[in-house]
Amino acid sequence: MKNWGIPIGAALIGMMSVVMATPTAGGEDPLLRPVAPDLAPLWLERQTPVRVHGGTWLVGFTHLNIVLIDSGAGLILIDAGLPQGVPLLEKTIEEAGFHMRDVKLILSSEPHYDHASGLAALARDSGATVLASASAAAVLRAGHSGMEDPQRTTLFAYPPVKRLRVVRDGEIIKLGNVRITARASPGHTPGSMSWTWTSCDARQDCVSMVFAASLNSLTDGQYRYADPAHRAVVQRFRRTLAMIRALPCDILITGHPEHSDGAAKRDRQVAAPDNDAYRNPGTCRMLADRYEAAFEARLAQEAGKAP
Ligand SMILES: [Zn+2]
Repeated sequence: MKNWGIPIGAALIGMMSVVMATPTAGGEDPLLRPVAPDLAPLWLERQTPVRVHGGTWLVGFTHLNIVLIDSGAGLILIDAGLPQGVPLLEKTIEEAGFHMRDVKLILSSEPHYDHASGLAALARDSGATVLASASAAAVLRAGHSGMEDPQRTTLFAYPPVKRLRVVRDGEIIKLGNVRITARASPGHTPGSMSWTWTSCDARQDCVSMVFAASLNSLTDGQYRYADPAHRAVVQRFRRTLAMIRALPCDILITGHPEHSDGAAKRDRQVAAPDNDAYRNPGTCRMLADRYEAAFEARLAQEAGKAP
């Protein structure tokens, strides 16, 4: 039996084999087994569904965004949160007036457990296919990150995802009346992916939507971005920041709402659903500026310290 509550040590990575069972009558559902129970409460706090614009909703949690996009011919979700949050997530989706059976695609922004460990349960319950970059798909299939992840030794393993489709940078995902572009965003993790689309509401007001992958440069304290062996990683991270900065970006959503002033926007939107509280065309530039400064500061700090 796997214990998802213990972080994977570097020594364990690559040696793990995970066998997932299907739920048994009256037994524990292995795909809902809690991951990181000590840290999880922050990411499990209930939030009533919020309509952001047109067919785009937030159906996740107070401190963790899960996006739902109604394409008119099925639903698309971005990220899944934690396994133990999936039952509440599914309730919230129904509360917003949608049905789990209509979820066709689940897009993954990064393979860290706080966004991805519920993917296996959510995909099973809906029958949806999970879409991710090639690098993220390898992690999702294994259920744990490898040594290439800057947070490798502090991450938690989780149930592997079976039904996966790899998407490449620039690929356009079509469902119903929605066209979503995959934007490779390596840096925070090698496989991070941002997702962009246009949302039109009933007034034919159309806006550029961005779900930006996490851009923070946290490490486990052992990984060093400034290591000469990671020169290409640093280049890719800088390219990601420049890409996010240049995006048409009327409305920005981040996996962690705290990264884009999510609580204040949500409160304003809930108070007056027509007031477009999420709209702020400068917001991707601000996000990129903030995380670029943090990344450059980390590089400088790492370079000043002996490895
Ligand atoms: Zn992460």
